Amino acid sequence: MDIRAAVFREVGAALRVERIVLDPPQPTEVLVRLAAIGLCRTDYHVMRGERRVAMQPMVLGHEAAGIVEAIGDQVQGVAPGDHVVLTFIPGCGHCRWCQRGLHHLCAEGPRITHGPQLDGSFRRRDAGGRDVGAFCMIGAFAEATVVDQASVLVIDKDIPLDHASLIACGVPAGVGAARHRARVKPGDTVLVVGCGGDGMNVVQGAKLCGASMIIAADIVAQKLEWARDFGATHGTTAQGDELISTVLALTDGIGVDHAFVCINPAETLLPAFRATTKAGNVVVTAITPDTVKQIDVPPLELFATQKAIMGAVYGFASPRLQIPELLGLYRRGDLKLGELISRTYRLDEINQGYADLDAGRNLRGVVLID
Ligand SMILES: [Zn+2]
Ligand SMILES: [Zn+2]
Repeated sequence: MDIRAAVFREVGAALRVERIVLDPPQPTEVLVRLAAIGLCRTDYHVMRGERRVAMQPMVLGHEAAGIVEAIGDQVQGVAPGDHVVLTFIPGCGHCRWCQRGLHHLCAEGPRITHGPQLDGSFRRRDAGGRDVGAFCMIGAFAEATVVDQASVLVIDKDIPLDHASLIACGVPAGVGAARHRARVKPGDTVLVVGCGGDGMNVVQGAKLCGASMIIAADIVAQKLEWARDFGATHGTTAQGDELISTVLALTDGIGVDHAFVCINPAETLLPAFRATTKAGNVVVTAITPDTVKQIDVPPLELFATQKAIMGAVYGFASPRLQIPELLGLYRRGDLKLGELISRTYRLDEINQGYADLDAGRNLRGVVLID
């Protein structure tokens, strides 16, 4: 079929909305009519060459919800008409990690930047007949996509699809970092550095965990106001040494129990580390550009303070477990989804959406497909 898609062709250039050919689903694949796609910063890192992908052209976009239109003859548990969200790491179901229920660590995960489908072949071609890749094996900045069933999660039809799209990436990434990686406990104190899509969800995750103090840090003052709506008790635009002293002043000089690094770890990890109490946790949820090869943390300080520095991808728990649970919290009014959406865009406005993200104007922009 012929679809419109926003294609990444060149580092540093705008995405090009063009017509491409999408082949029918193979036996284990699903054709999804996309409805809503979140504008996540990860795609922006790819556009700017900070997160390298193995090929161009490639359709970016990985935070998506839609409606199943057709399925291959070996697909199980998914039917035409189902509402689905797509997981940006496939859960192959066979590897060591998937068999332990750790689909976010699936052995196929490292291939999500390569371009082909899970089976290694391509389903997309441009007007010149050239293979077009699919970022995260999803390629969601498009009217439709074909993905392996390993990337598909069926959701209830009463969940609005624009809200559902956010549950595919930013919400579990942030909420899960607080709940499953740091394991924030009632009464704990928390610092969140960078209150964009991930960070704002760390804030609401920490609130769900019962944190007594949630300090939001961002250079954009508007985001600190939004953070209060999501549960932050304090806000600061301080950075570097000033951020450390601000946090220590708020915590009687001992630092927070958990610090979350949700933007630019090269600049924010060490201040977050030093704003954390002895034996506390520092959780990195943000991507660092490929060009940054290391971040300095004084090893004696690491040893003597007994702090843990840890990474969290996809909220450190299987999306197949987290997403239904998070939708349950949403239904009960304990999780904000619609409030995360600052603005919606048409597919051909996608570059404006990323300009707004870069300017700090959006908490989350969402592309809606008519
Ligand atoms: Zn994302
Ligand atoms: Zn797997």
